[in-house]
Amino acid sequence: MALHEIVTVPDKLLREISSPVKDITSQTQDLLDDMLETMYHAPGIGLAGIQIGIKERIVVVDISKDDEKKDPLFLINPKITAYSEEENEYDEGCLSIPSYFAPIMRPEAINVTYLDRDGKEHKREFDDMLARVIQHEVDHLDGKLFIDYLSKLKQNMAIKKVKKFISAS
Ligand code: ZN
Repeated sequence: MALHEIVTVPDKLLREISSPVKDITSQTQDLLDDMLETMYHAPGIGLAGIQIGIKERIVVVDISKDDEKKDPLFLINPKITAYSEEENEYDEGCLSIPSYFAPIMRPEAINVTYLDRDGKEHKREFDDMLARVIQHEVDHLDGKLFIDYLSKLKQNMAIKKVKKFISAS
């Protein structure tokens, strides 16, 4: 396993659309393991392939707390097939936009189809935090960032803040 560097804004790579995975090979699985390790190390609760420069539709998520047992979720070619009408708001952040957080409204529950690390197909409903993180990560696969939901002014503020944060660290 290996840690990867996380791509940050305003890198254009984050705007690219990732391609579906055709075959799940041991290489894909190694990559997922690396992504999980990179995410835990950051630390974060979700990471999409494009955030480490891999343009494939792969996502890792784990929302378990520090004192809880790890509960990783691997999603290959995730597709959101339905959204709840109810929405909720939560302060969102992103490993590619370090040091910036903003409240974002999103549907509270979603239905998702995806393949797991072993290529098994799943159809599942997710709600609350998992629904939010998965929506955030699927956006990454389509070149979309959570700051896109904000005003242009706030987007520019976010990027300025990240640049300052990176040059200081
Ligand atoms: Zn993100």
